[in-house]
Amino acid sequence: MREFVVLGTASQVPTRTRNHNGYVLHWDGEGLLFDPGEGTQRQMIQAGVSASQITRICVTHVHGDHCFGLPGVLSRMALDRVEHPIHLHYPASGEDMIRALVAVASPGIDLRLHPHGSAGPVAAGVEVRPLFHRIETYGYRVVEPDGRSLLPERLAAAGITGPDVSVLQRDGILGGVRLEDVSAPRPGQSFAFVMDTAPCAGAEELAAGVDLLVAESTFSDDDGDLAAQYRHLTAGQAGAVAATAEAGMLILTHFSSRYTDVSMLEGQARARSGAAAVVAANDLDRVPFPKRQRWG
Ligand SMILES: [Zn+2]
Repeated sequence: MREFVVLGTASQVPTRTRNHNGYVLHWDGEGLLFDPGEGTQRQMIQAGVSASQITRICVTHVHGDHCFGLPGVLSRMALDRVEHPIHLHYPASGEDMIRALVAVASPGIDLRLHPHGSAGPVAAGVEVRPLFHRIETYGYRVVEPDGRSLLPERLAAAGITGPDVSVLQRDGILGGVRLEDVSAPRPGQSFAFVMDTAPCAGAEELAAGVDLLVAESTFSDDDGDLAAQYRHLTAGQAGAVAATAEAGMLILTHFSSRYTDVSMLEGQARARSGAAAVVAANDLDRVPFPKRQRWG
């Protein structure tokens, strides 16, 4: 199962309708929790996500709205006797903050700290790129390896059935029939998480060709001077990242509390997003992972 769950959509200041940041990506057997802000434990309950479903926590940077939910979530994992390892990724310069937050959490879980200080892979299928914010910040990209999809009618025509299908997939050839003859390339699905940043190369690289891009859009285009001053994206800039990257779908989030209606931001992003579909996220939204867009 692949699904994106929105726990919170506010930036620095939560509102009556928007909790601080927090997102869960269900990715086959993995549960990736991104940027758990305050209140994440309770938002998980509201969203129907259990602590035991989380296997990996990815923090973009150590501003409070992206990590103050850590002690609560980790303590809940201890209470629920989560036994599998929890991998925690964060920028190396945030070590003191992360260790302080971890130190006040209940002990008892198998927590593994993975600081990173440069672009590259941080786990199988997960990589980071530096963003451009007021403190060290990294965005994340989750990628499934490319594979091949079997074509049932060609399998049938070749007379390959039952256990022989697995043999063909394993060996690549069976009785003169090659895997390529009875299957088509299937590009891996991909996901990018671009949080607090001004426009930068890292954001473009993370988003390149992804099926689903989640990007901050703290400010309206009308407040572009504030966005530049605090190194954030405007909604239009987030849309432009999606267009340049040829992303399939863009989810906007991390809204400033000054906007009670974010439909204007959605419109600004859509005006510049090219072919990418645009959705302004609300707390507790569940988004089925969009279809692969890199076919052929
Ligand atoms: Zn933030």
